[in-house]
Amino acid sequence: MTEPQTQNGALVQVQSLKKYFPIRKGVLSREVASRESSGSELRIRAAGFPARKAVEEFNFDHQPGLNRDTIAHLATAQFIAKAQNVVLLGPPGTGKTHLSIGLGIAAAQHGHRVLFATAVDWVARLQTAHQHGRLAVELAKLRRYALLIVDEVGYIPFEQDAANLFFQLVSTRYEHASLILSSNLPFSRWGDVFSDHVVAAAMIDRIVHHADVLTLKGNSYRLRNTEIDTLPSHRNENRAQ
Ligand code: ADP
Ligand code: MG
Repeated sequence: MTEPQTQNGALVQVQSLKKYFPIRKGVLSREVASRESSGSELRIRAAGFPARKAVEEFNFDHQPGLNRDTIAHLATAQFIAKAQNVVLLGPPGTGKTHLSIGLGIAAAQHGHRVLFATAVDWVARLQTAHQHGRLAVELAKLRRYALLIVDEVGYIPFEQDAANLFFQLVSTRYEHASLILSSNLPFSRWGDVFSDHVVAAAMIDRIVHHADVLTLKGNSYRLRNTEIDTLPSHRNENRAQ
């Protein structure tokens, strides 16, 4: 008596499984999709962006010299697979940080691990690692991030030691993993930033060997609805370029 009941029970179970299978399949694909997007979300949160900015929110009318297609192509993250770099140069408020965050978010959505920090923060991080005798370990750890974003190169000049650490960051990533760098200064003035023209030249050489160098121009987007049309540093930078 008990055996048929069990079989019956099992049959009922299978039938109910079958009944729910189509729903379960839908649930599964939704779960996969949400796991993928939550993976992106986790990578975006872990990247340390100072704000959320999307490439789609960028107003290209304000940067007529910038090619939309170039940015759209960079947003496909193919440059990361090739360990190429992006350099954004231009005066304050022209969208360097906005675009670097936007490209960083796009990279995270394409499955890449990304870290964002200012040049000063990167150097501080490397200095700490160096002081604890684990610079090589730290550089190896950072190489597992497909994309590092270095914002604000040039706002604060580096001492020789800091410049050497930064050079090591650039050279360990060369042809292995990508960098996005942004600076308010043209390359010709990086020698002053790194207090060593030889180190700066060697660094620029490695960065631009496989890179898109994008130059942003014009007035600060922050000041677009104000009467102020020129910032003190703006004129100097334009002259330097
Ligand atoms: P930078 O890093 O070059 O100093 P930001 O990227 O921080 O400039 O831009 C300053 C502010 O203006 C940010 O809020 C940014 O989102 C906005 N912004 C700058 N350029 C544009 C643009 N072309 N379209 C939309 N927003 C912009
Ligand atoms: Mg900025």
